[in-house]
Amino acid sequence: MPAGDHTIDPFAGLTDEVPTTLADHLRSVQLVDHHVHGVFDEPIDRAAFEASINEGSTDPVPGWMTMFDGPLGVAIRRWCAPVLGLAPHVSGDDYWAARAALEPADLAERFLRPAGVARWVVDTGFQGTLITPPERLTELSGGVPSSEILRLELQIESLLAAGTSPADLPDAFRARLAEARPHIVGTKTIAAYRCGFDVDWTRPDDRTVAAAAEEMLARPGAPRVDSAALSAFAVHEAAAAGLPVQVHVGFGDRDLDLHRADPMLLLPLLRIIEPVPVLLLHCYPFHRQAGYLAQAFDHVSFDVGLAINYLGSRSVELVGEAMEVAPFAKQLYSSDAFGPPELHYLGSLLWRRAMGLVLGAWVRRGEWSLDDAVRAVDLIGVENAERVYGL
Ligand SMILES: [Zn+2]
Repeated sequence: MPAGDHTIDPFAGLTDEVPTTLADHLRSVQLVDHHVHGVFDEPIDRAAFEASINEGSTDPVPGWMTMFDGPLGVAIRRWCAPVLGLAPHVSGDDYWAARAALEPADLAERFLRPAGVARWVVDTGFQGTLITPPERLTELSGGVPSSEILRLELQIESLLAAGTSPADLPDAFRARLAEARPHIVGTKTIAAYRCGFDVDWTRPDDRTVAAAAEEMLARPGAPRVDSAALSAFAVHEAAAAGLPVQVHVGFGDRDLDLHRADPMLLLPLLRIIEPVPVLLLHCYPFHRQAGYLAQAFDHVSFDVGLAINYLGSRSVELVGEAMEVAPFAKQLYSSDAFGPPELHYLGSLLWRRAMGLVLGAWVRRGEWSLDDAVRAVDLIGVENAERVYGL
């Protein structure tokens, strides 16, 4: 969001709250979005759009309500409407009409370019065919480079689907990691979705891995990793290869048992894993636990991406809570945007706004210096990601 190049000023009307130097810095800083997905590259209908701004439910949005009446929907109507040439706070119907008149590529360019992102770190695992691959995200955002994250469970599934035998799986997986290594900056586990965190995280031997794969293949349908042994294997192998490991934590759709995705349940893993960077993603509503873990373990960092968008106006309090206990070298910015490019833009805008309001209040009260505030913005927004992924 370079000054003069943004459609909307996140700090309009906030000169009393946010000191000018801090606001200017937050308007111009070019972020590393360390956990993000592609944008929709095909036209979608309103039902698909509404479903794509509803993280928790896996059902269509019922006809008697609209996601435009919700924290994220209000934020889209407030902050994204002007990007489409509409007044802030337009109705959901008017927003939809304007959006539907634009081609996906046009929409993407309008929202991605003013997001003020210097690098996308892209997770290509989920619904990888519905949305843009990293190269296309780069193109649509005007040349912003992309780095790639490898989904661990997906690698096991694709090896087995391609005919790798359970006995050969451990070596084949290690070979695949070695092969992918030059092209990726990290890995990701979705154990939260598959087995939960309250499992045995010890590193299984190859025979245990083969037996777990055997058991999985005996079930009907495509191979789906849902055993703790296979997720633990993949995570320990990634760490042994020196690769950063992102962990989906907390907030997600209802396929996930949220109470089993509390990062405190990862303590046994964090105590024994090779100390590669471990990035706890999203974390809401367990972001305070994540902050504690980031303080307690040198190799652990966290973010509150996804929830920033979904909490809308309350993202200010969320960002404030994320600033409570962890050193500022242990937190990263992400949007976790997926699908509508509004989310890539809004995540960045709401984070800038929240950081301005939270840190600005501390500066105004004399608890922080302006330099401290600018430093925290640079660490969380840019430098920590550069360090942990070696960008
Ligand atoms: Zn994600």
